[in-house]
Amino acid sequence: MASKNKSALHEKKGVSQPETTSESSAQKIKKSRSKQPTTDQFVSHILKGDITFLSRAITLVESTNLKHQQKANEILERCLPYANNSVRIGITGVPGVGKSTFIESYGKHLTSQGKKVAVLAIDPSSSVNKGSILGDKTRMEILVTDTNAFIRPSPSGTSLGGVAQKTRESIILCEAAGFDTIIIETVGVGQSETAVHSMVDFFLLLKIAGAGDELQGIKRGIIEMADAIVINKADGDNVQKAKIAKSEFNRALHLYPPKESKWQPKVLTCSALNHNGITEIYTLINEYLNLTKENRFFNKRRNEQNIYWLKATIEQQLKDSFYAQKNVKKQLSEELENLEKGLTTPFNAAKKLLDLH
Ligand code: GDP
Repeated sequence: MASKNKSALHEKKGVSQPETTSESSAQKIKKSRSKQPTTDQFVSHILKGDITFLSRAITLVESTNLKHQQKANEILERCLPYANNSVRIGITGVPGVGKSTFIESYGKHLTSQGKKVAVLAIDPSSSVNKGSILGDKTRMEILVTDTNAFIRPSPSGTSLGGVAQKTRESIILCEAAGFDTIIIETVGVGQSETAVHSMVDFFLLLKIAGAGDELQGIKRGIIEMADAIVINKADGDNVQKAKIAKSEFNRALHLYPPKESKWQPKVLTCSALNHNGITEIYTLINEYLNLTKENRFFNKRRNEQNIYWLKATIEQQLKDSFYAQKNVKKQLSEELENLEKGLTTPFNAAKKLLDLH
């Protein structure tokens, strides 16, 4: 559509030119669009904060095409020295809790402070089936028009690990493009919170006040990971309920042993819809950053996360290359048949397959 418009515009401008020239110009435009920029072009534009190039580079990161991946790796390597200079915030919560409303409100607050915000999503559902919990509906309609915000929907992929790795690489590109706050959003499904926790500095759990028994149905691990629990929709009739929920979560948090960061997780209430309580959350995250930068936990955690991702990437690639081998594929289907017939044990079958390697 866009290229059609452009060539139409060009034709209009060049009415006095012979038709053949106009045609070849249109072809030129088409050609330049389909032609991939060089790594140098990608890097220099990303470092200037060019969103179009950032988007295209992320598309390369997400691609399964080997050539694209190779180019993505070159770009990543060149961008890496300019990355790292940001605050990475993870936000999780069940569908309907108000994540996108919250991110929009929080994001606007950040951009009003002169910050540049990138929002990336990890949606485990989109890697399992075609549907997506985080939704294909237009989310964050106001933030999306903010020139200091960049919103990228969740990549689709074959596994949560694969999707998470792509998100991690996208963080590097966003940071190199000058985004100083990276928000990673996920739904509380499967292991996606663990994946997000392993790539952020601050982890925020979004909740709404329930029927009183607030802790029911929450995975223990999530509370342990949280640096803050924010009870959203504290407006209208909900204000009182939110206050009660706040004290219940506060009591629960005090039962956990102190964190290595020396940070005592806090519970706050907010109304993302009415933009109430957003400043307090901003202040809280800054307090956390001051503390952990001073006691050096901030850097320690980032180093640990790098080691985790190095190992996770090796494991993933070893697995992928193992299963991609022709003889492994063939033998695997034989072993699966034998297993079903009771002719082998899982351990013998695994040994046979691994010996092929
Ligand atoms: P998500 O699925 O977690 O991203 O949730 P959404 O941001 O899409 O919000 C789900 C619904 O809750 C929408 O109808 C929002 O308007 C509503 N909502 C979000 N935040 C608030 C809030 O602070 N107060 C009230 N009353 N409604 C809210």
